[in-house]
Amino acid sequence: MKFCSECGGELVERVPDGDDRQRKVCDACEIVHYRNPVTVVGCLVERGADELLLCRRAIEPAHGKWTVPAGFLEFGEGTQAGARRETFEEAGADVEIRTPHANFDLPHIGQCYSLFRASMRSDEYSAGTESLEVEFFSRADIPWSELAFPAVHFALKL
Ligand SMILES: [Zn+2]
Repeated sequence: MKFCSECGGELVERVPDGDDRQRKVCDACEIVHYRNPVTVVGCLVERGADELLLCRRAIEPAHGKWTVPAGFLEFGEGTQAGARRETFEEAGADVEIRTPHANFDLPHIGQCYSLFRASMRSDEYSAGTESLEVEFFSRADIPWSELAFPAVHFALKL
């Protein structure tokens, strides 16, 4: 961000009065533009005792790699609702959240993950616009070498 979203003034990096770290501050109206982490929400969708739903990404980064359905939480949305929405958007799957799976942080990229274990509410699933294909994998067949991100690997290992 280079310009103030309130007044259009130029932003400069400095430590505001009473603060202890560099922020982007508007030179004109003095508003401090805080940069906070974003929350990624998603589901480990289970079918039966041994199957897990994965999506092959149709978008960058990691185009063509496999991931659990997940994405950024929207403003005004709860984490469970967001996880269900992302699962429907990316995998066409209507799921029921069962239990929290994992919460972990990636501070170097400003992301906090909140993942849930979920089960299918119907048998239907299909690739959404951000997925090339969507498939259930048994535990033994998870494509470990073709996972999209270290966070996905970590979540599946858990
Ligand atoms: Zn301003």
